[in-house]
Amino acid sequence: MTDAILVLNAGSSSIKFSVFEAQGGKLEPGVRGQAEGLYTKPRFVAKSAAGAVVAEKSWEEGTTLGHVGGVAHIGGWVSEQLASSRLVGVGHRVVHGGLDYSQPVRLDASVVTSLEKYIPLAPLHQPHNLKPIELLLQRQPDLPQVACFDTSFHRSNPEIAQRFALPAELHDAGVRRYGFHGLSYEYIASVLPKVDARAASGRTVVLHLGNGSSMCALAGGKSVASTMGFTAVEGLMMGTRCGAIDPGVILYLMDQRGMDTRAIEKLIYNQSGLLGVSGISSDMRVLLGHEDPRAALAVDLFLYRIRRELGSLVAALGGIDALVFTAGIGENSAVVRERVIADAAWLGVSIDAAANASGGPRISAADSKVSAWTLPTNEELMIATHTWRLLQGRESS
Ligand code: ADP
Repeated sequence: MTDAILVLNAGSSSIKFSVFEAQGGKLEPGVRGQAEGLYTKPRFVAKSAAGAVVAEKSWEEGTTLGHVGGVAHIGGWVSEQLASSRLVGVGHRVVHGGLDYSQPVRLDASVVTSLEKYIPLAPLHQPHNLKPIELLLQRQPDLPQVACFDTSFHRSNPEIAQRFALPAELHDAGVRRYGFHGLSYEYIASVLPKVDARAASGRTVVLHLGNGSSMCALAGGKSVASTMGFTAVEGLMMGTRCGAIDPGVILYLMDQRGMDTRAIEKLIYNQSGLLGVSGISSDMRVLLGHEDPRAALAVDLFLYRIRRELGSLVAALGGIDALVFTAGIGENSAVVRERVIADAAWLGVSIDAAANASGGPRISAADSKVSAWTLPTNEELMIATHTWRLLQGRESS
């Protein structure tokens, strides 16, 4: 019997899952999928490692499966699939580990209580991330569980990079820059030594461009600065999030438009970004293929914000040796990569157009001073690896 690890990533209305099986000392991807529409019109779909749909189930409109039913369905289905392997642990993506968790941690009731402290810091994600954990602790207390955090990788940021220019009391109370997408950056940092030794040991900016987008400055593979901050709405323009905004705008909206917290939350998280500016879609593919000038404006602003933030991260690093593109847009859009690299020509980076069009991985020209890469991220594998190592005692929490 080989070891299998189940990875869960629970959101407000969906739970994504992936199974990894140990083969020859390595974790190999197995089935994956999701249960979505948990409170409206539930649907479960599972795919093989090669991407073929292997199971599907839909529930009637108005059915409330909830997180409880979702986890139960996924757990039951995954157990049936594991013929020659045994589930040794579950790894969870948890958005916030605050200042306490700079590493993944084995979960028990007391750790869950300490993670509940961070719900006010990430109210849109943290409570949902914790639900399957609580449920499995109740129902299968002997099944080991591990939490991996989106913030942990940025705990290496120097104190000054974490600081807002607010009174010290607020900083001490936890109002500081945490940074997110850490599991993605950690994965990229883990593969860089095999890809480009100079990028691994030097100054690299990673662009995680997806529905949620951010950038991270790596020095010798460690995070020293990132564009996200106290929350994941800071920094770059995203699919539906506005990114950096003058805090005075929020005060104006409250005073002059009578908007309350929930209305502003909806505006800055769900109605802004590519969707808000274009009025058409939050999906980069749709906007790139659209003739409406508002679509072009949204894409232009997305790129302009990257250009500005890239300058800031390069300043934090004191120079740059490599650029890495990842996530949905970064991995798939040759046009976006080409435009980012053209904007960054002043840094000494130039593109190999043919390599970029064919998906890299190296997309910079042979004589480019700064190398550029497109690399697929794998947050799930990072979680599975941490979980497996921690449970084997090969990693401490
Ligand atoms: P999430 O942050 O939800 O994990 P992803 O990393 O999957 O998101 O990225 C989703 C984004 O990637 C969407 O904006 C989608 O349009 C974009 N995307 C995917 N494929 C392409 C493509 N070929 N060209 C441009 N954008 C793409």
